Amino acid sequence: MAPTPKIVYRYRDALYVNLTNSCPTACVFCVKNSWKMDYRGSNLNLGGAEPSPAEVLGGAKAEWAASPFSELVFCGYGEPTMRLEAMLTCARIVRSGRAAPIPQNLRIRLNTNGLANAVWGRNVVPEMKGLIDSVHVSLNTADPGQWLERMRPLEPWRAGGFEKVKEFIRESVMLLPEVVATAVEAPEVDMPKFRELAGALGAEVRIRPVLEEEAGL
Ligand code: SF4
Repeated sequence: MAPTPKIVYRYRDALYVNLTNSCPTACVFCVKNSWKMDYRGSNLNLGGAEPSPAEVLGGAKAEWAASPFSELVFCGYGEPTMRLEAMLTCARIVRSGRAAPIPQNLRIRLNTNGLANAVWGRNVVPEMKGLIDSVHVSLNTADPGQWLERMRPLEPWRAGGFEKVKEFIRESVMLLPEVVATAVEAPEVDMPKFRELAGALGAEVRIRPVLEEEAGL
């Protein structure tokens, strides 16, 4: 029997939040299927029981009491912005100081595929201002056709999705303290072009190894 699903889990010195298993993409490099929804010993299969902000913060407070962490990261096996309001509520409660002993100035990061504006049909970045310190956007390529191949967006996000991700990055650069465009290493991706695009959008760049091959990423 699979162990109890984890709402929060540790990696390195951060605490990660598994808000949802819902995702508008099916990235070729996603390990959720090959790793059977397990992430380094944590079962991230929520089985449809998505956690409330109170459950997330309850878990985070208990983790902090056991051992403080350097940042709270919305990530998991799913796209966190599919639960935008729950994510923002968690961040708001931390920022208001009502999640003690978690400090209200704790760094809060969002790892995302950047499709939130497309999913919600509006620019959601202003809603994150003052709440999210850092956003890492999994852009992966400078080529729109290759973006479709690598991110494998579901309908209705295929048409125009790449442009919406770029728009999300541009908007984030204007309003959020740190914006990083990320790419998973792949021989077929033109990394100089990717770096050039990320720079033009105003984002920092992070290239990461394929997860199965990484050494303690
Ligand atoms: S965005 Fe994340 S969870 Fe969704 S398919 Fe890609 S890697 Fe997997």
